Amino acid sequence: RFITLEGGEGVGKTTNVTFVCDWLASKGIEVVRTREPGGTPGAEAIRELLLDPSREEAWSDDAELLLVFAARAQHLAQRIRPALARGAWVVCDRFTDATFAYQGGGRGLELQRIRTLEALVQDGLQPDLTLLLDMPVSVAAQRVVSRGARLDRFEREREAFFESVRSAYLERARDNERFAIIDASPALGAVQDEIERCLDQRVSA
Ligand code: C5P
Ligand code: MG
Repeated sequence: RFITLEGGEGVGKTTNVTFVCDWLASKGIEVVRTREPGGTPGAEAIRELLLDPSREEAWSDDAELLLVFAARAQHLAQRIRPALARGAWVVCDRFTDATFAYQGGGRGLELQRIRTLEALVQDGLQPDLTLLLDMPVSVAAQRVVSRGARLDRFEREREAFFESVRSAYLERARDNERFAIIDASPALGAVQDEIERCLDQRVSA
């Protein structure tokens, strides 16, 4: 099965991917942990191209979209599909919902263009469960700044960009059974209790 974690910067995705992987492993499940953009050497190289803050020429919106999907095509072919085929579970830090949120919501690309590429590259494959970690943008931004991490997009985008990303995620999650929306604002222990409840309910079934 295929589980993805989604959310804006600073919501705690990486920490909670670890939590989900450990939880599955404790049940004796073979877990493949991965991330997007990236997950294979070639796709990680595309990630560097996308995120390198020293590049002087910004990617056009369409170029960015195609790079994200080029990385995804490689990731699916080399890593995700083979793992699922042998019965492993794949836990991925971001997937196509991030494209709808960032390139769709953030950049304002037409969703139909994204859906076209989604159909082309995924050929019907969708995550079985998507945990959307949600919290107010101002709180998330504070967390990113206080951990002194590489700021990525916070260096370059305005708060409004991240508000659009958050709305697009929530819009996608609405009325979609694949999603569980997790309130990521409480202390980590409480967030993980909620994630565990969700995994118990959806995964053990
Ligand atoms: O998941 P993580 O926060 O490490 O993502 C790295 C960066 O990639 C983030 O700054 C995010 O804004 C960006 N990103 C993007 N479009 C995607 C996925 C990630 O701009 N589809
Ligand atoms: Mg992260």
